[in-house]
Amino acid sequence: MSVRWGLIGASTIARQFMINAIRAQADGEVAVVMSSSLERAEAYARENDIPAAVSTLDALLASDIDAVYISTTNELHLEQGLAAIKAGKHVLCEKPLALNSSDARKMVAAAKRAGIVFGTNHHLRNAGAHRAMREAIAGGRIGKPIAARVFHSVFLPENLQGWRITRPEAGGGVVLDITVHDADTLRFVLGDDPVEISAFAQSAGMAGGGLEDGAMCIWRFKSGLIAQSHEGFTTKFAGTGFEVHGSEGSLIATNVMTQKPVGSVLLRSVKGEEELSFDREDLYTRSLRQFHAAIRGKGQPAATGEDGIWSLASAEAALQSSRTGKSVAIDPQLGSLA
Ligand code: NDP
Repeated sequence: MSVRWGLIGASTIARQFMINAIRAQADGEVAVVMSSSLERAEAYARENDIPAAVSTLDALLASDIDAVYISTTNELHLEQGLAAIKAGKHVLCEKPLALNSSDARKMVAAAKRAGIVFGTNHHLRNAGAHRAMREAIAGGRIGKPIAARVFHSVFLPENLQGWRITRPEAGGGVVLDITVHDADTLRFVLGDDPVEISAFAQSAGMAGGGLEDGAMCIWRFKSGLIAQSHEGFTTKFAGTGFEVHGSEGSLIATNVMTQKPVGSVLLRSVKGEEELSFDREDLYTRSLRQFHAAIRGKGQPAATGEDGIWSLASAEAALQSSRTGKSVAIDPQLGSLA
């Protein structure tokens, strides 16, 4: 039996990656799309070969679907997620799960109570490059991890220069957009959790409405490891990268903070330099495969609801730090999900 998906949001990310990722599954079907405008929903359905188009959440949830993928603007995730959970649908929700971690906890707790599968679409965990780094670290190949650096300042493409840089009420700004991914990728690759963050944010000329379009964060992890991350919307030529430096070696990854299965990972140690090999599967396709397996009772989504709470709690702490000039403790309060 196939997994029938309803798309909540006629978004760019669904069009560019997620519809293909669903269709790449032997048992994946895109059954219906919902937009706040029927005209947009119908046009989107036509362009993407989706059999049905609706303009209300009730109509979508009343359709013959098993799961929903939520990729609307961030202020809508909570209400749409709670309604889908109530309707008994499995939920794959875009990051950030909500505008604040307290709302994200509400949604994840409701999913737990309802016994449905709930995932956060942190795609980078699915990248072969990041999985190779995680394995190398867990296998002791760099000794004790001491420090990490994430280079994730990009140029926001013109077609995405909308709510992200103009609408604080929609959860715009680079921290809710990109720092959440860096929080998740650091946690995944290091196998460690952050406890404290200090951040500076800036508006370098692209974002308005008091939103930040650049941020630099300094993180402390449970193990004592410290990390730096740089997120931005305004740098055209920076390139991306991720380094983890340990007592016995360093991992230096280039061009890996991206949606595509590209980039390289170098392991440098007393033995010299070794280029790590890794699979080049599409990140979103792998994420969907794991989500479908979870629906069938095998394992969990690549990034769970708890992971989404962690990344949002981290971003929230970064924003608070940038506003107060003080370092802020990161506390996901997962105990409150019980
Ligand atoms: P878009 O701006 O493309 O879409 C968001 C919403 O904006 C849509 O639901 C749609 O509303 C509305 N919209 C889009 N295009 C138009 C238009 N031409 N005219 C009017 N309204 C329009 O957002 P993204 O796809 O960039 O992001 C959506 C979500 O996905 C966000 O939560 C974001 O953080 C996340 N994201 C995650 C990524 C990942 O790799 N995990 C990558 C990119 C985004 P309606 O549905 O009502 O028509």
